[in-house]
Amino acid sequence: MQHIPVLLKEVLEGLAVKPGGLYIDATVGEGGHAEAILEASSPDGCLLGIDVDEEAIKRASERLVRFKGRVALVKASYTNLVNIARKEGFLQVDGILFDLGFALFQVEDAKRGFSFYLNGPLDMRYDRTSKLSAYHIVNRLSEEELADIIWKYGEEPKARRVAKAIVQARPIRSTLELARVVEQVVGSGGKIHPATKVFQAIRIAVNQELDNLKEALPQAVELLKPGGRLAVISFHSLEDRIVKEFFRQESRDCICPPELPVCVCHHKATLKVITPKPIQPSPQEVEANPRSRSAKLRIAERRP
Ligand code: SAH
Repeated sequence: MQHIPVLLKEVLEGLAVKPGGLYIDATVGEGGHAEAILEASSPDGCLLGIDVDEEAIKRASERLVRFKGRVALVKASYTNLVNIARKEGFLQVDGILFDLGFALFQVEDAKRGFSFYLNGPLDMRYDRTSKLSAYHIVNRLSEEELADIIWKYGEEPKARRVAKAIVQARPIRSTLELARVVEQVVGSGGKIHPATKVFQAIRIAVNQELDNLKEALPQAVELLKPGGRLAVISFHSLEDRIVKEFFRQESRDCICPPELPVCVCHHKATLKVITPKPIQPSPQEVEANPRSRSAKLRIAERRP
């Protein structure tokens, strides 16, 4: 199955995609959003697609062959956004998109280790050249470190007990083994799979997803031309909070603590928030594409 791009119409509208525009898709994945952006910016809009997963770049390049000459694809992390964009000549761009998290092909591939339904190694790296894998987090960290990760990145109320059970069950080698250990502590019966939060936590830790996002957002602002748009789709509250707070801070002139009588930060607003409340998918979209269930899209515009 191909990855269905989430909130597609809303992204195109939010980025105000137009012919001749310059766009960056910082998480190009299978190229779903990228394809639609290239179509909507025909005949001469250009797109720089970035993904840290080699396999994603391969899939996107196959999907986007017909736009040859208008697309550049780069295997890299969006934490290097400014450098990559500079090298590829994408400066003063009209729109930048982040569609966070994982792509369908990654979860559906058992050997990538993202799924608690498919048996695979404890991997969970988007970037398969990186050293840190889920195996390391699950089997090598101290019980306390593990509990902190599960608590902070998974918001799992039973984090301490889960960490204890994991440490006792070591070595844990596969996704299904890990899912079973977690299930024994968390119990089944809720609406989501009992291991959802723990898998999310480990994935975030393996890929340093929250730190990466914090690093990338200011770079995106730097690359936008005045009036250019930034669109970010997040899939859980930790990500959305980072985006919301970044947008709020960048839309204010002074960010000094309120107790200071005069401004000492001299911060100047760089963004105008276009979506005071995030855009969420319609019930129809959620039904057609369950991955969109928790999606939240926020859009901001670069100020002059
Ligand atoms: N919008 C895409 C799907 C994106 S899924 C589509 O329509 O097809 C999210 C993608 O972000 C995944 O392919 C994942 O490998 C990528 N990703 C995760 N962390 C990244 C990072 N730090 N830098 C670049 N890409 C990253």
